[in-house]
Amino acid sequence: MIGARPAREVLTYAIPLRTRFRGLTVRDGVLLRGPAGWGEFSPFWDYDDDESAAWLRAALEAADEGWPAPVRDRVPVNVTIPAVGAADAHRLVTASGGCRTAKVKVAERGQDIGQEIARLEAVRDALGADGAIRVDANGGWDLETALARLPVLDRAAGGLEYAEQPVAAVGDLAVLRRRLEIPIAADESIRRAEDPMAVVRAEAADVVVLKVQPLGGVRACLALAEQVGLPVVVSSALETSVGLAAGVALAAALPDLPYACGLATAQLFTADVVDDPLLPVDGAIPVRRPDLAPDRAAAAAADVDLIARWSARLDAVQGTVDA
Ligand SMILES: [Mg+2]
Repeated sequence: MIGARPAREVLTYAIPLRTRFRGLTVRDGVLLRGPAGWGEFSPFWDYDDDESAAWLRAALEAADEGWPAPVRDRVPVNVTIPAVGAADAHRLVTASGGCRTAKVKVAERGQDIGQEIARLEAVRDALGADGAIRVDANGGWDLETALARLPVLDRAAGGLEYAEQPVAAVGDLAVLRRRLEIPIAADESIRRAEDPMAVVRAEAADVVVLKVQPLGGVRACLALAEQVGLPVVVSSALETSVGLAAGVALAAALPDLPYACGLATAQLFTADVVDDPLLPVDGAIPVRRPDLAPDRAAAAAADVDLIARWSARLDAVQGTVDA
């Protein structure tokens, strides 16, 4: 930290993931302590300082203010299935802690539709007929590919709950929504957009995905949810249980929560910084804020080079927040 600001306790972590996710095999970030507890600041390295400022506001809210009161005591969650083979997909659903909804990654570079069909069929087999399946393409298809693939994947899945960000452009999301029966969810079009309301004006989505760190905190997300006026799915930014607790707090405070949330991502980490990670029980995460366990945080500590990189990044992003 810079200037006259008192030194803040900061821990830098680096934790291997069980499966490659978002191109990562190790997740890293920093944890900041304030009067209200620990907050997580972990923008991915492809986010510049300006875009990372929202992530820091979220961490400071957690550390300095805490969160609004919950209106529910458990948050139903989905299991997330990375772009893995059918056998692994099946195993992940079975080991998900009773999740009744699965989010399946599609549009992975180098994979074909046959692999996506096999993954979806395996997930349906593991989940049973009454589970819900959604796909997430992270904007990876063009409009023609999305129009061709989604009906095929809908059949393979035995019905899709919704398709999350099948294409990148808001205008293309709106076309898909008009031309297909499958509901459309906007994720990147909300959290990496200059104007999240463009999705609403274009009638481009049935559901919006909100993530606390990229959108600047729990209160900022609650205000955005009210402004958007569409059903909200809260998802994580692939965080430790310190960061996940903010997502759980948002999901717990929303007036309505009609869909399972994408917060069961502690499962993707090989270790955590708390003794009792925010994992689902019978398909839902109990609403609570686990305490950081110093011995686990020490075991997850990054090496000196990474600590120096995060320290420099924190100062640079703090500069943009102060400016
Ligand atoms: Mg997504």
